[in-house]
Amino acid sequence: MMIDEKKSDNILNMNSREKINNYIKGKSDKKKFLYSPNWGCYYPGYFLGKKWLSEVTLEEQVDVALEFKFDLIHNVFRDVFIENIEPLKWKISEKIETDKRRVIRRYFDTPFGRLENETTELPDNGCTLTKSPIKKEEDYKKLSYYVKLIREYAEDLGREVTRVRRVIGDRAAFTVIVSNPFEGFFLVPREDPIYHEIEWPEAFVAFMQEAHETEKKIIEVALKNGTDGIFLGSVGTEMISPRIFEEYFLTASTELCELTEGLGGWSNYHVCGCGKKWIDSGYVNSIKPTVYESFSLPPTGDITDFRIARKAIDKRIVSKGHINLNLLKNGTPEEVSVETKKSILSMKGFRHIISTNCQILHGTPKENLEAMYDAYCDLIK
Ligand SMILES: [Zn+2]
Repeated sequence: MMIDEKKSDNILNMNSREKINNYIKGKSDKKKFLYSPNWGCYYPGYFLGKKWLSEVTLEEQVDVALEFKFDLIHNVFRDVFIENIEPLKWKISEKIETDKRRVIRRYFDTPFGRLENETTELPDNGCTLTKSPIKKEEDYKKLSYYVKLIREYAEDLGREVTRVRRVIGDRAAFTVIVSNPFEGFFLVPREDPIYHEIEWPEAFVAFMQEAHETEKKIIEVALKNGTDGIFLGSVGTEMISPRIFEEYFLTASTELCELTEGLGGWSNYHVCGCGKKWIDSGYVNSIKPTVYESFSLPPTGDITDFRIARKAIDKRIVSKGHINLNLLKNGTPEEVSVETKKSILSMKGFRHIISTNCQILHGTPKENLEAMYDAYCDLIK
Protein backbone atom coordinates (compact mmCIF):
# COMPACT_ATOMS: atom_id res chain seq x y z
CA MET A 1 0.00 0.00 0.00
CA MET A 2 2.71 2.44 1.06
CA ILE A 3 4.84 1.47 -1.92
CA ASP A 4 2.01 2.10 -4.36
CA GLU A 5 1.42 5.51 -2.87
CA LYS A 6 5.08 6.40 -3.24
CA LYS A 7 5.09 5.20 -6.81
CA SER A 8 2.18 7.41 -7.74
CA ASP A 9 3.89 10.39 -6.09
CA ASN A 10 6.96 9.73 -8.17
CA ILE A 11 4.91 9.57 -11.32
CA LEU A 12 3.33 12.91 -10.42
CA ASN A 13 6.82 14.31 -10.07
CA MET A 14 8.00 12.87 -13.37
CA ASN A 15 6.93 16.01 -15.18
CA SER A 16 8.74 18.39 -12.85
CA ARG A 17 11.00 19.58 -15.65
CA GLU A 18 8.14 20.69 -17.86
CA LYS A 19 6.18 22.10 -14.94
CA ILE A 20 9.10 24.27 -13.80
CA ASN A 21 9.96 25.46 -17.30
CA ASN A 22 6.36 26.41 -18.01
CA TYR A 23 6.02 28.25 -14.72
CA ILE A 24 9.25 30.21 -15.05
CA LYS A 25 8.54 31.12 -18.66
CA GLY A 26 5.02 32.31 -17.72
CA LYS A 27 3.18 29.61 -19.65
CA SER A 28 1.19 28.25 -16.70
CA ASP A 29 -1.34 29.59 -14.21
CA LYS A 30 0.32 32.66 -12.77
CA LYS A 31 -1.81 32.72 -9.63
CA LYS A 32 -0.46 29.44 -8.33
CA PHE A 33 2.93 29.16 -6.74
CA LEU A 34 5.60 26.63 -7.51
CA TYR A 35 7.13 24.74 -4.58
CA SER A 36 10.86 24.12 -4.96
CA PRO A 37 13.17 24.32 -1.92
CA ASN A 38 16.80 25.20 -2.60
CA TRP A 39 18.63 21.95 -2.89
CA GLY A 40 22.20 20.78 -3.00
CA CYS A 41 23.98 17.92 -1.30
CA TYR A 42 23.68 19.12 2.35
CA TYR A 43 20.27 17.71 3.12
CA PRO A 44 20.42 14.60 0.89
CA GLY A 45 23.83 13.81 2.45
CA TYR A 46 22.36 14.11 5.94
CA PHE A 47 19.23 12.16 4.99
CA LEU A 48 21.30 9.32 3.55
CA GLY A 49 23.76 9.35 6.47
CA LYS A 50 26.84 10.16 4.36
CA LYS A 51 29.93 11.33 6.16
CA TRP A 52 31.53 13.16 3.22
CA LEU A 53 29.06 15.28 1.34
CA SER A 54 31.18 15.30 -1.81
CA GLU A 55 30.16 11.65 -2.14
CA VAL A 56 26.45 12.42 -2.59
CA THR A 57 25.62 11.63 -6.22
CA LEU A 58 23.43 13.68 -8.56
CA GLU A 59 20.98 10.81 -8.71
CA GLU A 60 20.72 10.60 -4.92
CA GLN A 61 19.97 14.33 -4.75
CA VAL A 62 17.05 13.83 -7.15
CA ASP A 63 15.80 10.74 -5.32
CA VAL A 64 15.70 12.47 -1.91
CA ALA A 65 13.90 15.47 -3.44
CA LEU A 66 11.23 13.12 -4.82
CA GLU A 67 10.88 11.64 -1.36
CA PHE A 68 9.75 15.11 -0.20
CA LYS A 69 7.44 15.60 -3.20
CA PHE A 70 8.64 18.93 -4.49
CA ASP A 71 9.56 20.03 -7.98
CA LEU A 72 13.32 20.11 -8.05
CA ILE A 73 15.53 22.66 -9.75
CA HIS A 74 18.79 20.77 -9.85
CA ASN A 75 21.74 23.15 -9.93
CA VAL A 76 24.88 21.35 -11.08
CA PHE A 77 28.38 22.88 -10.92
CA ARG A 78 30.00 22.98 -14.35
CA ASP A 79 33.02 21.29 -12.70
CA VAL A 80 30.99 18.05 -12.86
CA PHE A 81 31.39 18.20 -16.66
CA ILE A 82 34.94 19.56 -16.72
CA GLU A 83 36.44 17.01 -14.36
CA ASN A 84 35.45 14.14 -16.61
CA ILE A 85 37.45 15.49 -19.54
CA GLU A 86 40.93 14.02 -19.31
CA PRO A 87 43.06 16.96 -20.63
CA LEU A 88 41.22 19.35 -18.27
CA LYS A 89 41.48 17.18 -15.18
CA TRP A 90 43.55 18.35 -12.21
CA LYS A 91 45.74 15.45 -11.06
CA ILE A 92 45.73 14.43 -7.40
CA SER A 93 49.14 14.64 -5.74
CA GLU A 94 48.10 13.85 -2.18
CA LYS A 95 45.03 12.69 -0.28
CA ILE A 96 44.98 12.71 3.51
CA GLU A 97 41.93 11.33 5.25
CA THR A 98 41.38 11.24 9.00
CA ASP A 99 38.21 11.04 11.07
CA LYS A 100 38.09 14.81 11.27
CA ARG A 101 39.02 15.98 7.79
CA ARG A 102 39.88 15.03 4.26
CA VAL A 103 42.53 17.03 2.47
CA ILE A 104 43.10 16.73 -1.27
CA ARG A 105 46.03 18.42 -3.05
CA ARG A 106 45.78 18.77 -6.81
CA TYR A 107 47.91 20.17 -9.65
CA PHE A 108 47.56 21.16 -13.27
CA ASP A 109 50.56 21.66 -15.58
CA THR A 110 50.56 24.57 -18.04
CA PRO A 111 53.28 25.79 -20.45
CA PHE A 112 53.87 28.60 -17.93
CA GLY A 113 54.35 26.28 -14.96
CA ARG A 114 52.34 24.30 -12.46
CA LEU A 115 49.11 25.35 -10.73
CA GLU A 116 48.45 23.76 -7.32
CA ASN A 117 45.50 23.90 -4.95
CA GLU A 118 44.17 22.21 -1.84
CA THR A 119 40.67 21.48 -0.58
CA THR A 120 39.71 20.48 2.94
CA GLU A 121 36.43 18.78 3.61
CA LEU A 122 35.01 18.43 7.11
CA PRO A 123 32.66 15.56 7.95
CA ASP A 124 28.89 16.12 7.86
CA ASN A 125 28.76 19.86 7.19
CA GLY A 126 30.38 19.81 3.78
CA CYS A 127 32.60 22.81 4.48
CA THR A 128 35.34 23.03 1.88
CA LEU A 129 38.23 25.42 2.29
CA THR A 130 40.48 26.04 -0.67
CA LYS A 131 44.15 26.84 -0.63
CA SER A 132 44.55 29.10 -3.61
CA PRO A 133 46.44 28.22 -6.80
CA ILE A 134 47.33 31.94 -6.99
CA LYS A 135 50.34 32.82 -4.88
CA LYS A 136 51.95 35.43 -7.12
CA GLU A 137 51.01 37.58 -10.09
CA GLU A 138 52.45 35.16 -12.69
CA ASP A 139 50.06 32.46 -11.52
CA TYR A 140 47.22 34.35 -13.20
CA LYS A 141 48.90 33.68 -16.55
CA LYS A 142 48.69 29.94 -15.80
CA LEU A 143 45.07 30.20 -14.69
CA SER A 144 44.21 32.22 -17.83
CA TYR A 145 45.77 29.44 -19.89
CA TYR A 146 43.65 26.85 -18.07
CA VAL A 147 40.29 28.62 -18.45
CA LYS A 148 41.01 29.35 -22.11
CA LEU A 149 41.85 25.69 -22.71
CA ILE A 150 38.37 24.64 -21.54
CA ARG A 151 36.85 26.36 -24.59
CA GLU A 152 38.72 23.97 -26.87
CA TYR A 153 36.77 21.05 -25.42
CA ALA A 154 33.28 22.35 -26.11
CA GLU A 155 32.24 19.12 -27.80
CA ASP A 156 33.32 17.00 -24.82
CA LEU A 157 31.54 19.38 -22.47
CA GLY A 158 28.37 18.92 -24.50
CA ARG A 159 28.66 15.15 -24.20
CA GLU A 160 29.02 15.44 -20.40
CA VAL A 161 25.98 17.72 -20.14
CA THR A 162 23.92 15.17 -22.09
CA ARG A 163 25.12 12.42 -19.74
CA VAL A 164 23.94 14.39 -16.68
CA ARG A 165 20.60 15.10 -18.35
CA ARG A 166 20.12 11.37 -18.87
CA VAL A 167 20.76 10.72 -15.16
CA ILE A 168 18.24 13.40 -14.12
CA GLY A 169 15.74 12.66 -16.86
CA ASP A 170 12.61 14.79 -16.76
CA ARG A 171 12.36 14.33 -12.99
CA ALA A 172 13.84 17.80 -12.41
CA ALA A 173 14.76 21.02 -14.16
CA PHE A 174 18.51 21.22 -14.55
CA THR A 175 20.74 24.28 -14.48
CA VAL A 176 24.49 24.67 -14.73
CA ILE A 177 26.18 26.78 -12.06
CA VAL A 178 28.54 29.31 -13.64
CA SER A 179 30.65 32.01 -12.01
CA ASN A 180 30.92 35.73 -12.44
CA PRO A 181 34.47 36.53 -13.72
CA PHE A 182 35.35 38.27 -10.44
CA GLU A 183 34.85 34.98 -8.59
CA GLY A 184 38.06 33.48 -10.02
CA PHE A 185 36.29 30.65 -11.84
CA PHE A 186 35.52 29.22 -8.35
CA LEU A 187 39.19 28.23 -8.14
CA VAL A 188 40.33 31.20 -6.07
CA PRO A 189 39.14 31.57 -2.44
CA ARG A 190 36.32 34.09 -2.28
CA GLU A 191 38.18 36.79 -0.29
CA ASP A 192 41.33 36.84 -2.46
CA PRO A 193 40.16 38.59 -5.67
CA ILE A 194 39.49 41.77 -3.65
CA TYR A 195 43.26 42.06 -3.03
CA HIS A 196 44.31 40.74 -6.44
CA GLU A 197 42.32 43.44 -8.20
CA ILE A 198 44.24 46.11 -6.25
CA GLU A 199 47.68 44.49 -6.38
CA TRP A 200 47.78 43.02 -9.90
CA PRO A 201 45.05 44.81 -11.87
CA GLU A 202 46.35 43.93 -15.34
CA ALA A 203 46.90 40.22 -14.80
CA PHE A 204 43.65 39.95 -12.89
CA VAL A 205 41.53 41.76 -15.49
CA ALA A 206 43.12 39.74 -18.33
CA PHE A 207 42.21 36.55 -16.46
CA MET A 208 38.64 37.80 -15.87
CA GLN A 209 38.16 38.34 -19.60
CA GLU A 210 39.23 34.76 -20.38
CA ALA A 211 37.06 33.36 -17.59
CA HIS A 212 34.05 35.32 -18.87
CA GLU A 213 34.51 34.02 -22.43
CA THR A 214 34.73 30.48 -21.10
CA GLU A 215 31.57 30.82 -18.99
CA LYS A 216 29.73 32.13 -22.05
CA LYS A 217 30.89 29.09 -24.03
CA ILE A 218 29.78 26.77 -21.21
CA ILE A 219 26.34 28.40 -21.18
CA GLU A 220 25.97 27.94 -24.95
CA VAL A 221 27.07 24.31 -24.84
CA ALA A 222 24.97 23.51 -21.76
CA LEU A 223 21.75 24.94 -23.18
CA LYS A 224 22.31 23.20 -26.49
CA ASN A 225 22.79 19.83 -24.78
CA GLY A 226 19.97 19.60 -22.28
CA THR A 227 20.12 22.11 -19.44
CA ASP A 228 17.07 24.28 -18.85
CA GLY A 229 18.83 27.29 -17.42
CA ILE A 230 21.87 28.69 -15.69
CA PHE A 231 22.46 29.47 -12.04
CA LEU A 232 24.72 32.31 -10.97
CA GLY A 233 24.95 34.80 -8.16
CA SER A 234 27.02 36.83 -5.83
CA VAL A 235 27.83 37.41 -2.20
CA GLY A 236 26.31 40.56 -0.70
CA THR A 237 27.93 43.97 -1.31
CA GLU A 238 28.75 43.97 2.41
CA MET A 239 31.43 41.39 1.50
CA ILE A 240 32.84 42.87 -1.71
CA SER A 241 31.82 46.58 -1.68
CA PRO A 242 29.32 48.32 -3.99
CA ARG A 243 32.24 49.67 -6.08
CA ILE A 244 33.44 46.16 -6.98
CA PHE A 245 29.91 44.98 -7.61
CA GLU A 246 29.12 47.84 -9.97
CA GLU A 247 32.44 47.59 -11.79
CA TYR A 248 32.78 43.83 -12.17
CA PHE A 249 29.51 42.05 -11.46
CA LEU A 250 26.76 44.19 -12.90
CA THR A 251 27.69 44.15 -16.59
CA ALA A 252 29.05 40.60 -16.62
CA SER A 253 26.01 39.16 -14.83
CA THR A 254 23.62 41.08 -17.10
CA GLU A 255 25.43 39.72 -20.14
CA LEU A 256 25.27 36.11 -18.91
CA CYS A 257 21.54 36.41 -18.16
CA GLU A 258 20.83 38.01 -21.56
CA LEU A 259 22.81 35.35 -23.37
CA THR A 260 20.88 32.62 -21.56
CA GLU A 261 17.44 34.01 -22.41
CA GLY A 262 18.57 34.67 -25.98
CA LEU A 263 19.37 30.97 -26.29
CA GLY A 264 15.96 29.95 -24.98
CA GLY A 265 16.95 29.18 -21.38
CA TRP A 266 16.26 30.96 -18.08
CA SER A 267 18.61 32.41 -15.50
CA ASN A 268 18.44 32.08 -11.73
CA TYR A 269 20.34 34.77 -9.79
CA HIS A 270 21.12 33.98 -6.16
CA VAL A 271 22.30 36.59 -3.66
CA CYS A 272 23.97 34.89 -0.75
CA GLY A 273 23.87 37.52 1.99
CA CYS A 274 22.21 40.90 2.42
CA GLY A 275 19.93 41.49 -0.55
CA LYS A 276 18.36 44.85 0.37
CA LYS A 277 21.05 46.78 -1.51
CA TRP A 278 20.29 44.76 -4.68
CA ILE A 279 16.68 45.75 -4.57
CA ASP A 280 16.97 49.39 -3.38
CA SER A 281 19.71 50.29 -5.84
CA GLY A 282 17.95 48.63 -8.77
CA TYR A 283 20.68 46.00 -9.35
CA VAL A 284 18.11 43.21 -9.68
CA ASN A 285 16.04 45.05 -12.26
CA SER A 286 19.10 46.00 -14.23
CA ILE A 287 20.60 42.45 -14.30
CA LYS A 288 17.07 41.23 -15.11
CA PRO A 289 17.48 37.53 -14.36
CA THR A 290 14.48 35.33 -15.13
CA VAL A 291 14.39 34.24 -11.46
CA TYR A 292 15.75 36.22 -8.51
CA GLU A 293 16.44 34.84 -5.04
CA SER A 294 16.58 35.22 -2.07
CA PHE A 295 15.03 37.41 0.61
CA SER A 296 16.85 36.62 3.85
CA LEU A 297 15.68 37.99 7.16
CA PRO A 298 18.13 39.37 9.74
CA PRO A 299 20.60 38.32 11.07
CA THR A 300 21.78 36.42 7.93
CA GLY A 301 20.01 38.84 5.59
CA ASP A 302 18.50 42.31 5.81
CA ILE A 303 15.03 42.05 4.26
CA THR A 304 12.42 42.90 6.88
CA ASP A 305 9.29 43.03 4.73
CA PHE A 306 8.95 40.47 1.92
CA ARG A 307 6.08 42.24 0.21
CA ILE A 308 7.79 45.64 0.05
CA ALA A 309 10.92 43.91 -1.30
CA ARG A 310 8.96 42.01 -3.92
CA LYS A 311 7.04 45.11 -5.04
CA ALA A 312 10.30 46.88 -5.87
CA ILE A 313 11.28 44.10 -8.29
CA ASP A 314 10.15 44.09 -11.93
CA LYS A 315 6.90 42.10 -12.23
CA ARG A 316 8.34 40.05 -15.09
CA ILE A 317 11.03 38.65 -12.80
CA VAL A 318 10.00 35.47 -10.95
CA SER A 319 11.01 35.66 -7.27
CA LYS A 320 12.20 32.74 -5.18
CA GLY A 321 12.63 32.29 -1.43
CA HIS A 322 12.38 32.85 1.54
CA ILE A 323 11.81 30.24 4.25
CA ASN A 324 14.31 30.82 7.05
CA LEU A 325 16.88 28.01 7.29
CA ASN A 326 17.53 28.50 10.99
CA LEU A 327 13.84 28.19 11.77
CA LEU A 328 13.58 25.16 9.52
CA LYS A 329 16.38 23.46 11.41
CA ASN A 330 15.64 24.55 14.98
CA GLY A 331 11.93 25.48 15.06
CA THR A 332 8.92 23.27 15.72
CA PRO A 333 6.76 21.95 12.84
CA GLU A 334 4.03 24.41 13.93
CA GLU A 335 6.42 27.37 13.70
CA VAL A 336 7.58 26.22 10.26
CA SER A 337 3.99 25.94 9.11
CA VAL A 338 3.14 29.49 10.29
CA GLU A 339 6.28 30.93 8.67
CA THR A 340 5.62 29.13 5.37
CA LYS A 341 2.05 30.38 5.18
CA LYS A 342 3.17 33.92 6.02
CA SER A 343 5.79 33.74 3.28
CA ILE A 344 3.30 32.49 0.67
CA LEU A 345 0.66 35.10 1.52
CA SER A 346 3.20 37.92 1.26
CA MET A 347 3.81 36.99 -2.41
CA LYS A 348 0.18 36.98 -3.49
CA GLY A 349 -0.28 38.31 -7.00
CA PHE A 350 3.31 37.69 -8.07
CA ARG A 351 4.96 34.83 -9.86
CA HIS A 352 6.89 33.30 -6.99
CA ILE A 353 8.65 30.02 -6.20
CA ILE A 354 8.23 28.93 -2.58
CA SER A 355 11.69 28.03 -1.45
CA THR A 356 14.28 28.26 1.28
CA ASN A 357 16.83 31.06 1.54
CA CYS A 358 19.72 28.80 0.61
CA GLN A 359 20.43 25.08 0.85
CA ILE A 360 18.53 23.23 3.58
CA LEU A 361 20.94 22.67 6.45
CA HIS A 362 22.47 19.46 7.63
CA GLY A 363 20.52 18.22 10.67
CA THR A 364 17.16 19.75 9.66
CA PRO A 365 14.39 17.45 10.99
CA LYS A 366 12.37 15.59 8.37
CA GLU A 367 9.16 16.63 10.20
CA ASN A 368 9.91 20.30 9.54
CA LEU A 369 10.34 19.72 5.82
CA GLU A 370 7.05 17.86 5.81
CA ALA A 371 5.40 20.73 7.74
CA MET A 372 6.65 23.18 5.10
CA TYR A 373 5.18 21.06 2.30
CA ASP A 374 1.87 20.53 4.11
CA ALA A 375 1.52 24.28 4.74
CA TYR A 376 2.05 24.89 1.03
CA CYS A 377 -0.57 22.24 0.09
CA ASP A 378 -3.06 23.73 2.60
CA LEU A 379 -2.82 27.18 1.03
CA ILE A 380 -2.83 26.29 -2.66
CA LYS A 381 -5.86 24.01 -2.42
ZN1 LIG B 1 23.22 31.21 -0.62
